[in-house]
Amino acid sequence: MPKPIISFEFFPPQTPEGMEKLTTVRNQLCQLRPEFFSVTFGAGGSTQERTLQTVRQIHQEGFAVAPHLSCVGSTRDNIRELLQTYQQLGVRRIVALRGDLPSGMASIGEFQYANELVSFIRAQTGEHFHIEVAAYPEFHPQAKSAHDDLLNFKRKVVAGADSAITQYFYNADSYFYFVDACRKLGVTIPIVPGIMPIVKFSQLARFSDACGAEIPRWMRKTLEGYGDDSTSVQNFGLDVVTQLCEKLLAGGAPGLHFYTLNQSGSSIEICKRLAL
Ligand code: FAD
Repeated sequence: MPKPIISFEFFPPQTPEGMEKLTTVRNQLCQLRPEFFSVTFGAGGSTQERTLQTVRQIHQEGFAVAPHLSCVGSTRDNIRELLQTYQQLGVRRIVALRGDLPSGMASIGEFQYANELVSFIRAQTGEHFHIEVAAYPEFHPQAKSAHDDLLNFKRKVVAGADSAITQYFYNADSYFYFVDACRKLGVTIPIVPGIMPIVKFSQLARFSDACGAEIPRWMRKTLEGYGDDSTSVQNFGLDVVTQLCEKLLAGGAPGLHFYTLNQSGSSIEICKRLAL
C-alpha cells in the first residue's frame, strides 16, 4: 500500500498568542511529515489578512502550505490579486471553495459556485496551482438532490480541480459509496477523506448541525452520556476516529486530511495508533 498523504488544516488565529501557539502545534505536527498544512479563509474575505499572514509564516518556515480561497461575496479583481500574491510567495496549492455568505452580507459577488472559481484560477494562472476542491460524501445541505450534488462535484473536476478533500463524516460507507459514484461518472481525481477528531461533544454537534455532517445516533447517545467527563469523550473519540481511519485506508483512501482546530494532540495520537 502506498504511504497515505497526510495533511492538517488550521484556522488563522486572531491574536499574537494564538499565532505563537499555532507555531508550537505545527512543530509537533511536522514530525508526521505532512504533505501540506492548509489555512481556512472566512467567506466574504473576513479573515483575508489573517489567512495571508498565517500562510506567509508557514511558508517562511519552509513547509508546504495551501491557502483556502472562498469566492462568495468576492470580486474577480480581489481574487486575481490574492492569486498573484500567493504566486509571488511561491505557494503551489490552493483549496478552492464557494464558502457561505456571512449573515448580513447582501451581495453574493461575482462568483456563484466553486466551479466558476476553479475555472477562473486556471484561466489566470494556468497550471501553477494544484487545486483542491471540497467533496461531500453525505451530500451538501443545499444540494437539490444527491445526484445533482455529484454532477456539481464533477463540474469542479472538469473545470480543472486536481484533487478533493471531503467534509468530515463518521460513516465510512458514505465515503466508499461517494467515491464509487464519482468513478462511475468518470471522475478519477484522488478524494481524500476529511477527518474531524472528537474533543468536545457540544462543539462537534454545533459544527455538524451547521454543515450537515451526520453524527450517527449510537455515537451521539454515547457522547451525550459522558456529559462533562471530557476524558471519556476524548478516549471514545480516539477509538472511533482511529477505527474510521483504519477502515478508510484499508478501503483505498489515498490519505487523511485532519481538521485540527489548531490542536495537535488528537491528530498525533490517531496517527500514532495508525502507525503513520
Ligand atoms: P460548491 O461546490 O459551489 O457547492 C455548493 C452548493 O451548490 C452544493 O449544494 C452544490 O450541489 C451546488 N452547486 C454547485 N455548483 C452548482 C452549479 N453550477 N449549479 C447549481 N448548483 C450548484 N468555507 C469557508 O468559508 N472557508 C474555508 O476555508 C472552508 N474550507 C473548507 C474545506 C473543506 C475541505 C470543506 C469540505 C469545506 C470548507 N468550507 C469552507 C465550507 C464550504 O465553503 C461550504 O461547505 C460551502 O457551503 C460550499 O462550498 P463548495 O466549495 O463545496 O461549493
